[in-house]
Amino acid sequence: MDVRTEVPLAPLTTFGIGGPAAFFVRTRSTDELAEAFAAAQAEDVPVIVLGGGSNILVPDEGVNALVLQVAHKGIDFGHELLRVAAGEVLLNLVQYAAVQGLGGLTNLAGIPGTVGGAVRGNAGAFGSEIQDVIAFVTVFDTTTGYQKIYSKPECMFAYRSSVFKQEPHLVITEVALALPAGAPAELEVAVAHTISEREKRHIQDIKSAGSFFKNPVVEEDIQHLFEKDKGVKSKEGRVPAGWLMDQAGLRGARVGDAVASPYHTNYFINMGNATAQEVKQLAAFAKEKVKKEFGIELEEEAVVL
Ligand SMILES: Cc1cc2nc3c(=O)[nH]c(=O)nc-3n(C[C@H](O)[C@H](O)[C@H](O)COP(=O)(O)OP(=O)(O)OC[C@H]3O[C@@H](n4cnc5c(N)ncnc54)[C@H](O)[C@@H]3O)c2cc1C
Repeated sequence: MDVRTEVPLAPLTTFGIGGPAAFFVRTRSTDELAEAFAAAQAEDVPVIVLGGGSNILVPDEGVNALVLQVAHKGIDFGHELLRVAAGEVLLNLVQYAAVQGLGGLTNLAGIPGTVGGAVRGNAGAFGSEIQDVIAFVTVFDTTTGYQKIYSKPECMFAYRSSVFKQEPHLVITEVALALPAGAPAELEVAVAHTISEREKRHIQDIKSAGSFFKNPVVEEDIQHLFEKDKGVKSKEGRVPAGWLMDQAGLRGARVGDAVASPYHTNYFINMGNATAQEVKQLAAFAKEKVKKEFGIELEEEAVVL
C-alpha cells in the first residue's frame, strides 16, 4: 500500500476546493481496503472514504485523517447480473452496459463520480435512480472487518439515501445489477441524448458538487404553489430546493467566488478561487432565506466534511 502524506484534495473533487489530507491511500481491492482500515485503527487515525469526489466539500484547512479513495475496478457479466467494482466511474459503467445491450442506466449518464458513491446516495436523474437496477450490494464492514452482502430491501433505498449513508462504517466494494436487455445502438443514442440534455441544463462539467441541498418534503400549500408555477406535479410531497431558492431570490447569489448557478440555483459553482468557507457562507445564507420565506429547513445533499 502506498500511503502518502499531505495530499491535496481539491484536485480529487469536482468542486476543486479544499486543503490536503494528512494521509491518503488509493485502494484497488478489498484486501487493500481491509489493510488500510486496520493500519488506521492501529494508529488511531480516522478514515474518510472518497469515491469520485463529486458530492463532497473539503474544508480549506484540509483533514487530519486518512482519506481512502476506493479505486477498485472491474466489470463482469454472468448469471444474468452485471457485477461492477465500486471504484468504477459511473459513466464508464453506463457506456459499457449500452454497448453490451444492457439498459436501465441511460438516464444516469453524465452523473459524475463512482458506482460506490452513486449507490450510497441512490443517485438519480430524469426519473430514474440507481436503486431501480440494483440486485445486491457487497460491502466491507469496517467494524467487523468482514465482507457482507446486502439484498436490495436491506439497502433501504430512498430518495438520495440508503443504509450505506445512514451507516458509514459500511464501505461498498461491489454492486450487482439486474439490467433489462436492449438494442446497443438505441441505448448508445439514449446515453448521448441524456448527456446533451444535461449540457443544455448547465449541469454538466461544472466545478460543483451537484445539487447542494435535497429537495424537501413540504406542506400542501407550497406544493400547490410549485405546481401552479411550473405546471408539473410535485413528487412524494417534495418540491425542488432550487425552486424554493429561486422564490427566495437566490438565483445567482454570490459569496466571493462561490455562486448559486444562474441556470440551476441549487448547484453551487466554484467560479475560480472559491473557498470552502465561501461555499458554507452561501449555504448558510440560502438556508436562512428559504427558512424566512417558507419556514422550510433545507438539508445538505452534498457531504460537507
Ligand atoms: C456537475 C454535477 C452534476 C451532478 N448531477 C447529479 C445528478 O444528476 N444526480 C445525482 O444523484 N447526483 C448528481 N451529482 C452529485 C454526485 O455526482 C453524486 O452524488 C455521485 O453519486 C457521488 O459519487 P462520488 O463517487 O463522487 O462520491 P464522493 O463525492 O466521493 O463521496 C460522497 C459520499 O459517498 C461516500 N462514498 C463514496 N464511495 C463510497 C463507497 N464505495 N462506499 C461507501 N461510501 C462511499 C463518501 O464517503 C461520501 O460520504 C452531480 C455532481 C456534479 C458535480
